[in-house]
Amino acid sequence: MTEPPVVLVLGGTGEARDLAAELDAQNVPTISSLAGRVADPRLPDGAVRVGGFGGVAGLTQWLRDNGIRVVVDATHPFATGISANAATATRSLGLPLIRLCRPPWSPGDGDDWVRVPDIADAAGYLDGRRARVFLTTGRKDVDAFAHISSAWFLIRVVDPPQTRMPSQRTVIRSRGPYHVSDETALMREHRIEVLVTKNSGGEMTRAKLVAARDLGIEVVMVDRPREQPGVLSVDDVAAAAGQVRRLIGGAQPL
Ligand code: NAP
Repeated sequence: MTEPPVVLVLGGTGEARDLAAELDAQNVPTISSLAGRVADPRLPDGAVRVGGFGGVAGLTQWLRDNGIRVVVDATHPFATGISANAATATRSLGLPLIRLCRPPWSPGDGDDWVRVPDIADAAGYLDGRRARVFLTTGRKDVDAFAHISSAWFLIRVVDPPQTRMPSQRTVIRSRGPYHVSDETALMREHRIEVLVTKNSGGEMTRAKLVAARDLGIEVVMVDRPREQPGVLSVDDVAAAAGQVRRLIGGAQPL
């Protein structure tokens, strides 16, 4: 008989999938949650639910109804809405919350980074420039660049944007992990002059930064939004799994 889950992993990232696999391997009853934004998502091991909870109230109710004892927020560093909801809901129920968040990228020798605080500032920085831009911020953020007519955009997304887009553009669809040789070839082929990326961190999409450095391409790096205050934060899967085991104690078959 499958035991009901006691751990909720809020996912949509590679780390969340790795954590679900780790907890599944350790027989920790876990359910992963995906927002349902991607048409054909990579599903984690173990139980999965898909779709929003309905704000803080919906999430609070869901956690109560399902007898969840520990929540791991392993969502993307830029998914601020669900992280805020998780912090509020767990606080009101007195449940432990662990934040699993990969470290950000930082510039090294030879990198040409312009750091901006948010997507709007990235768009402001490009507006009026006649540059060839590689936009890798995800389809949710394409809209912010839609008004820019001076630049040409290569827009890379998993699923096609449903929003307005810049008038001069080519849209390509793909999903990481990416390799330096492919990224270099892509940027050469499209004569890219500026790369725009969020500071997501991690290895899956790091190759574009290496390619940009090698090709002398400027990078507009969107800094991360602030994390929820007062939440226990870890930056790797093993540490998150260890915290989960500590929090659910010996009552579960580990
Ligand atoms: P968001 O703005 O923080 O969340 C908006 C709403 O989407 C939330 O209030 C919640 O709806 C729902 N939601 C988000 N993540 C969810 C999850 N894991 N399970 C159930 N519902 C979820 O989120 P977002 O930036 O659109 O990101 C959506 C998902 O894509 C996240 O799971 C994130 O990890 C992943 N992702 C995001 C980015 C990015 O750049 N933002 C990049 C890669 C992957 P309700 O209020 O109805 O509960």
